[in-house]
Amino acid sequence: MPFVSEFPLSIKILCIACGLERPHVFVVRPQSWNGSSFRDRPSDYAVYECQYCKMQRIWPMPTLEALRAFYSSKRRDEPLVTGVRLVANRMWNYYNKYRFLTRFVHSGLVVDVGCGQGYFLETARLAKALGNLGLRFIGTEYDTTAVERLRRRGFDIRIGDIWEVGLEPRSVACFYLCHVLEHLYDPVKSLREMKLLLSNGGYVIIHVPSPDTRPARSQGLKWIMYRLPEHLWFFRDRSAVMLFERLGFRVKYIRETWPINPSHEIRVAAQLVK
Ligand SMILES: [Zn+2]
Repeated sequence: MPFVSEFPLSIKILCIACGLERPHVFVVRPQSWNGSSFRDRPSDYAVYECQYCKMQRIWPMPTLEALRAFYSSKRRDEPLVTGVRLVANRMWNYYNKYRFLTRFVHSGLVVDVGCGQGYFLETARLAKALGNLGLRFIGTEYDTTAVERLRRRGFDIRIGDIWEVGLEPRSVACFYLCHVLEHLYDPVKSLREMKLLLSNGGYVIIHVPSPDTRPARSQGLKWIMYRLPEHLWFFRDRSAVMLFERLGFRVKYIRETWPINPSHEIRVAAQLVK
């Protein structure tokens, strides 16, 4: 376990947004995060920022074993929300996400990657019943309890990574990742896999917590999304654009969710162009 003094002020490491080794500067070593709260001791990890594109990332990179241990000690990936007010809030939140998606995607298959308790899928099903766009929704998830619950409710949920759940090449109109990309061990590899499965002009739509949002800026170095090693990557406007464009997408929309942004997120709609 490194001490503060063991964290160098600057290191040269691969930036996933630039795709090159770049000098990264030390940003912060936050409090240790156990999956539901911060503990009164420093994390084993720190946040570093690419000096070129301002992409932020965890360092050192946790081992897969460390990540597995972290996730298995967590109570669950996403809590089940109950209570009238909370459910109403949640539905409003996800209805806005659905409306955002349907600004760009009007027909075809939408894959909700890491669908959790299926809040987006539930909202999409309700919204679809009101006005039927030609959209079909499926979800992928690892949390088997959530999967069983959703399957009982009639949703098509696949267990595993996108490349192992029976999707045909060029068959997907949209991959939807709501607070998922920042958890992935290798987002570049995942986005490349999505490219192979996307149809011509298909979209990747993401919601990710970003240090560029107003609530994040007001919290500064004590930003509550600096939850290591749960979050591995912190996308900023410029770095998210660089990442997508480097991989052959055109970013059609990138902005902070407005006016209420409890998840400190930016929304990005990126269209596959090559
Ligand atoms: Zn960079």
